[in-house]
Amino acid sequence: MTGLSGSGKTAFITSLVENLLSAVGRPSRLPFLQAPRDRRLVAVTLQPSPIGGVDRFPLDATIAALAADPPQWPPSTTGLRGQDLSVRFFPSGVLGPDHPIGRMAGGIAELNLGILDYPGEWLLDLPLLGQSFEEWSRATLQLAARGPRAPLARDWLEFLARYPIGARSDAQTAQHAHDLYRDFLLACRTREQLSLLQPGRFLNPGELADPSLLGFCPLPSAASTRVRPGSLAEIMASRFEAYKWNVVQPFFSHLARGVDRQIVLVDVLRALNAGEEAFNDQRRALETILQAFRYGRRSRFQWLFGARIDRVLFAATKADHVPALQRDHLAALMANLVAAPTLRAERAHARVAATALASIRCTEDGTDVIDSRKVDIVTGLPQGSERRIRFFPGVVPVTPPPAGFWGERFTAFPVFQPPRLRDAAADGIAHIDIDKALDFLLADALA
Ligand code: GDP
Repeated sequence: MTGLSGSGKTAFITSLVENLLSAVGRPSRLPFLQAPRDRRLVAVTLQPSPIGGVDRFPLDATIAALAADPPQWPPSTTGLRGQDLSVRFFPSGVLGPDHPIGRMAGGIAELNLGILDYPGEWLLDLPLLGQSFEEWSRATLQLAARGPRAPLARDWLEFLARYPIGARSDAQTAQHAHDLYRDFLLACRTREQLSLLQPGRFLNPGELADPSLLGFCPLPSAASTRVRPGSLAEIMASRFEAYKWNVVQPFFSHLARGVDRQIVLVDVLRALNAGEEAFNDQRRALETILQAFRYGRRSRFQWLFGARIDRVLFAATKADHVPALQRDHLAALMANLVAAPTLRAERAHARVAATALASIRCTEDGTDVIDSRKVDIVTGLPQGSERRIRFFPGVVPVTPPPAGFWGERFTAFPVFQPPRLRDAAADGIAHIDIDKALDFLLADALA
């Protein structure tokens, strides 16, 4: 599973795992997942460590945060981590316990489910593998000159303008140029809420054995300058290559091992709220990210991916910010945003769906009267507040909004306090449509 920072990966994994654990004794937590609904789920067990030497997902810490008084949102995903589960179940049909063949075969089947979680930003680096430093510099500088990026790039570009990139340089100058570029990316994210920020590790480094691999930045007119030994251009180009082959490529090789189902989480509501540029930028970032996966049989990057993804789910998260009807709008908007990648995946015979879900439901649906008209609202407790609010989120557009929509900002969404967990493994976690998401991704594996 993946998604850009803040899209809800930590919340999703916590909810998925705890709700699967609880579904054995309490199938009503996941009413749309067929196996528990048919009472075929026998046991769900957490495996002590994920395969492949990946750090374990910090489930104990995320549960502790949600069980605190007052409950807290757990810290977000910063690196590659995994959680393996063993799911024991009675198969349906002839292999099930209700059939003579099933009874003879002993009945119980086991699914080993490995969940891999990492910042979606890392997938933004895939195109780098096919680009030279010059090509990447040119593309990145073109992007930096446009829209809300341009004023934020000023300090970095002014610094570079003072240093002829062909003249002899030193590590200190290179580091300063890198720092300014990183500041620029950070400002793009925090001030303008942009998403297409490369390299993906500059803002989400994870645990790198050698952090100096990040010490580069794109350079203007790198294409036209002959690269002299010891020049800024040479330092940056060689670091760029080292980053590609020592950081990016090994990560994609890791992903290639056996990923066959994919869920992509997207915080569509936040992008709507952030405005036209942020919304379109998130869409471009999504398209870049989705090039990374090998669906069905065809892919531009076949050499990277051994496995083949045959089911993909795009999920707009935090859907508890909007009432029921708006959640259908949100799912439709999600589907529209990924129409092109969906077509690509379907052509390669992968099954694709789009949905809206809430991993941890913090609100309840209600109605209110505004200007003498009855409207649907949600009620919830904003984080840090003493009183619940009645929140009218406005109308979520079903298709990517036309220019006129952006005149005024879409509703600013409050951060709602999550419900306090008592015994998550037994009771599960309140959610919206996690069960439908799981059914799409796993129904055949649990059949
Ligand atoms: P990550 O960076 O992808 O791991 O994102 P997180 O799972 O940490 O989520 C980021 C923030 O989004 C959380 O701290 C919550 O404030 C909010 N959030 C995530 N999931 C939900 C949800 O299901 N409902 C609500 N209301 N907020 C959520």
